[in-house]
Amino acid sequence: MRESATFGDERRRPVDTLIVGGGPAGLAAARFLADEGRSATVLEKRPILGGKLSSWRDRDGDILETGLHAIFGGYTSLLQLLREVGIAHHLLWQPHALTWAMPADFSPRWNGAPVYEEFRFADAPAPFNGIGAVLGARYVFSAWEKVLFAKGTLPVLLRHHRYADAQDDITYADWHRRRGMSEHMLHTFFGPMALALNFTSVDDISAEAMLRVMAYFASSRDASRAGFFDGPPGPRFVEPLAAHVRERGVRIETNAAVGELLYSGDRCTGARTRDGRVFTADSVILATPVHDAKKILPAEMQRDPLIEGVAKLSSSPVINAHLWFDRPISRFTNLMFSPGTLLGVHADLGLGSPGYEWSGKSFIEACVAPADELIARDDETVIAAVMEDLRKLYPLAERKHLVKAKLVRIPKSVYRASPGAERLRPGSRTPVRNLFLAGCYIDTKFPASVEGAVRSARLAVDAVLAAPSS
Ligand SMILES: Cc1cc2nc3c(=O)[nH]c(=O)nc-3n(C[C@H](O)[C@H](O)[C@H](O)COP(=O)(O)OP(=O)(O)OC[C@H]3O[C@@H](n4cnc5c(N)ncnc54)[C@H](O)[C@@H]3O)c2cc1C
Repeated sequence: MRESATFGDERRRPVDTLIVGGGPAGLAAARFLADEGRSATVLEKRPILGGKLSSWRDRDGDILETGLHAIFGGYTSLLQLLREVGIAHHLLWQPHALTWAMPADFSPRWNGAPVYEEFRFADAPAPFNGIGAVLGARYVFSAWEKVLFAKGTLPVLLRHHRYADAQDDITYADWHRRRGMSEHMLHTFFGPMALALNFTSVDDISAEAMLRVMAYFASSRDASRAGFFDGPPGPRFVEPLAAHVRERGVRIETNAAVGELLYSGDRCTGARTRDGRVFTADSVILATPVHDAKKILPAEMQRDPLIEGVAKLSSSPVINAHLWFDRPISRFTNLMFSPGTLLGVHADLGLGSPGYEWSGKSFIEACVAPADELIARDDETVIAAVMEDLRKLYPLAERKHLVKAKLVRIPKSVYRASPGAERLRPGSRTPVRNLFLAGCYIDTKFPASVEGAVRSARLAVDAVLAAPSS
């Protein structure tokens, strides 16, 4: 069946904007357009909405998701969106601490047993709350390392984003060493942070990407406080947001994979889906991941300096591991960072979030990274490697207590923040005056994240509203 969003059905209001991609950026853009009284159609290639924030159930009825998602207090645009849509109550804020779970064999400083370190943020204005958290650390930093840390990170605390923005040419590891901080601190503290941020190691991530996050964490009292949705993000965030925009007249089509954009003269007139449906609109927002934008935008257009980053940015692979245990194996409800393991960042959502339907027992979700090699391995190999590392963190995580394990592989997740990548992030404008880009890879000055996606949607919608109508 062929259909058109605007033609062939005289009764339908002409669509002002076509949004390609039904992830957080696409749905947020739909909401911002609806607020302005503009009509919009969202085309999503998959049967479900939410992109990297999607969740679904497997054949047993168990919850799977593309990624473990923590939300931070510094996500101001996302938090405002959640409040406006009336779903902010679905956020479950954790104690203001970042917790490190560390295997005994990772450092000669620890003998025999895993070590847990909670960086508790003091009830004080930023950055003093963060400085207090570091000063209070017992295992990760020695007293001398705390001095080196304070000295090394001072420019970030004093000059914030301006300083961070100038550090894109080198890796975080290079910057760290130049600032005279220790190797132990690099791998113990910053190693898992880099993996959590971009699924990329400290030896490969841009210093700017890391320092920006530190600058954000140091920018307001609650910026570093982590929370989770009180259940899977599908029913807690994606579906209510989609229902909300539908009520405002936005049309959402799933199973609508856009194969190409359509042009007439110097304008983009709409899109054709791979199954041949044509959708037309006055303007188009391409809210796909960068690797999909690369496939959709003509190669010639990608040579334009405005969007050359689309062709040049690459993406990080990651595996989201789900592990259900028949008992509690950890005691933490917070976001956990673990150096020297495959589980750089993970959480026990059984203990931390009741909506995961595993209350009182452990349901561990872990972002397994770097996954460049592991992603091609079979499930059993990956699960065995993850279990081996998990056991080093939580001795109760024995195979006999594992009820079930499932992996979700994302070969191309977020843009890889390697040195030079920050400069390549395109803005929302393209060489075509009514075609705009959104998505967490856009230059929002925020890392690839749900917040970055919402910020990119705001930028794209502002550009749509500012564009002269033909
Ligand atoms: C494992 C993992 C863990 C993460 N953890 C966190 C976290 O803790 N906190 C955080 O803030 N962020 C986290 N992120 C990042 C966050 O999920 C993303 O930054 C965010 O979801 C990006 O939103 P987006 O709308 O830009 O892109 P996406 O979520 O990728 O959405 C893009 C949509 O476009 C659709 N699409 C692509 N091509 C087409 C086409 N041709 N036609 C139609 N539709 C198309 C896709 O199917 C998708 O639905 C994590 C990501 C992963 C993978």
